[in-house]
Amino acid sequence: MLKTTLQIVVLLFCVILVSAADFYKVLDISRSADDATIKKAYRKLSRKYHPDKNKEPEAETKFVEIARAYEVLSDPEKRKIYDRHGEEGVQQHERGQGGGGANPFDLFQNFFGRRQPQTRRGPTTTSDFEVTLENIYNGADIDFMINKHILCDHCRGTGAASDSHIHTCSVCDGSGVQITHQQLFPGMVVQGQTTCSKCGGKGKIIAKACPHCQGQKVMPHTQHYTLEVPRGAPEGHQVVFEAEGDENPDWEPGDVIISIRTRKRLGGWRRKETSLYWTENLSVEEALLGFERNITHIGGHTIVLKRDAVTQPGFVQTIKGEGMPVFQGTGYGDLFIEYNVILPAQLPVDLRKDMDMPCENL
Ligand SMILES: [Zn+2]
Ligand SMILES: [Zn+2]
Repeated sequence: MLKTTLQIVVLLFCVILVSAADFYKVLDISRSADDATIKKAYRKLSRKYHPDKNKEPEAETKFVEIARAYEVLSDPEKRKIYDRHGEEGVQQHERGQGGGGANPFDLFQNFFGRRQPQTRRGPTTTSDFEVTLENIYNGADIDFMINKHILCDHCRGTGAASDSHIHTCSVCDGSGVQITHQQLFPGMVVQGQTTCSKCGGKGKIIAKACPHCQGQKVMPHTQHYTLEVPRGAPEGHQVVFEAEGDENPDWEPGDVIISIRTRKRLGGWRRKETSLYWTENLSVEEALLGFERNITHIGGHTIVLKRDAVTQPGFVQTIKGEGMPVFQGTGYGDLFIEYNVILPAQLPVDLRKDMDMPCENL
């Protein structure tokens, strides 16, 4: 208990220390951001910096900062004061109200705890994304785009030209259902319920549709993202873009999940977990007499292949530590070179002479 109290004291102290930061910058949003954007930014950042998940030393300070920014910007009154008088103004207002500065952990709990059971979520989509083996070996940031629907920024998802164009349905009085009376035979009337035919069960009538989305509430949108391919990512490794699915006024967007796949190429480098495979072709002479040659590794450096002895077709040479990097670990797997001996289409003349020689001696 004492520990918790101490922690809160330290956290509150942090709030005071970090109060100079611009709340809009903290949440990485513009000054004109709407409520949905503020929520989304908080959802994303608070999860990223929650001290239970993020062990970096500055994560806790950042988490507190994010909570404070959200607390102020998500409250229309405090936001207005903040925009005009800065954080000092907000603190003065809070002192007048006898409080302020919510516990960042309670805020987080409330945000995620209360929201989930009652909010419907849109579908989660999973897509394969092909990258090169070089991308996986080195790690890469790859830009890509998703075509999706976002809430219309004119009507904010209501579908109406303005709020004054949203009327309560006069037929069902906003309930969305109509009571019907059906006479089965004289003296016997049954009462039933049907979806309101005028408003389609919504309880509201839009007198004038939004001119931007034609009343569709959402608009097509192309959004840019960066896929971080971690070094040594396993085949099918999933990267989750939280709540980046289609937006809709009736639900919270689902996640977009990207599954990393290696682009298939004929020949060349192959990979299985941390092992890397390469096939090298040798001439008959090289297979018999030995050879030395260089190949360029997918990591960009040169590997020297060298043998003095006879190399049998299908012989596999192991080169330690030249395989794929270990995912989320240190070190590398091994590289396996398989030798393939290419026989000539015709026996070279000098070789034929050598082989013919014993016959002539007979
Ligand atoms: Zn609209
Ligand atoms: Zn109605």
